[in-house]
Amino acid sequence: MTDEIHLTGLRAYGHHGVFDFEKADGQEFSVDVLLTGDFSQAAQTDRLDDTVDYGAVAELAAKIVSTERYDLIEALAARIAGAIAGTITIPCTVSVTVHKPSAPIAHDFADVTVRASAISHGKANTPTRAGGTSSEQRITAILSLGANKANPRGQLEDALHAIDRLPRVEVVHASGFYATAPVGGVEQDDFVNCAAVVEAACSPRELLAALQGIEAAQGRVRDVRWGPRTLDIDIIRLTAADSDIDSPDAQTTSSDPILTLPHPRAHERAFVLVPWAEIRPHARISHGGAQILVSEAGSRVQAAEPAQTVRRLD
Ligand code: ADP
Ligand code: MG
Repeated sequence: MTDEIHLTGLRAYGHHGVFDFEKADGQEFSVDVLLTGDFSQAAQTDRLDDTVDYGAVAELAAKIVSTERYDLIEALAARIAGAIAGTITIPCTVSVTVHKPSAPIAHDFADVTVRASAISHGKANTPTRAGGTSSEQRITAILSLGANKANPRGQLEDALHAIDRLPRVEVVHASGFYATAPVGGVEQDDFVNCAAVVEAACSPRELLAALQGIEAAQGRVRDVRWGPRTLDIDIIRLTAADSDIDSPDAQTTSSDPILTLPHPRAHERAFVLVPWAEIRPHARISHGGAQILVSEAGSRVQAAEPAQTVRRLD
């Protein structure tokens, strides 16, 4: 007897592709999973333990898309199929289709898809939503948001709502909005910036991927580096949820170019430091072997570089 479970159109942001800009900027992928097997026991018992938890399957596939990196979607599809087959307890065939609708092709096209299959012998433990994913990991992060095109303040308001609506992510506190002069030498309009403290039950890379999904959804185009952008969201500092988010000693550090922590340019940007100090007035950063308040660091940057104007909006 053959039954089927279909999970279709699972969207996740990832960094797969052979081109450097695909690895750096990422794009949206979509995944379909087809499980073919005998699910008649579950039909009789009506118990989740007797079938495949498609919620857990979805979390596993989305996590692989957003946190791992492959040049080819062939490799990505095979990895997802293998991972799902390795974690389910019902013998079945796992068929995974990866869609790459924004693939770099210089013609109009609808979609590119690759399908890979794997066989589950049903020996593994069923992934649970808590155990099979990193949802038990709790983190706190300082985010910096900026926009300078298409109603920038509205973009930031929309982004804060979108972040708060993410599953397992909560905006605890957001700063006011600041008009700031552009840095980096490209001629463009003023930016609007703000900062936010978020708490999340996911890994740092999953948080970044979710934020990049919001950037993409709000139409960010990365044509000029440091040039105009609809929306930019950076993770400035990140700690475990039970650590002191105000202390540089507690922060997670990473030199991974996909997620560098703390953000390597935050300490020289008044438009990051000033809104951050508003929401965390006791926050400190390392400075020449000592620690100084983030507010003090912001004042020093502005004193040294008067062009970095930061003006709070009403
Ligand atoms: P910037 O934020 O310096 O203006 P971009 O937003 O264009 O520059 O940089 C985007 C890239 O930076 C993304 O591909 C992302 O993976 C990477 N990145 C590295 N560290 C971080 C971080 N802490 N927060 C956000 N993006 C980061
Ligand atoms: Mg950024």
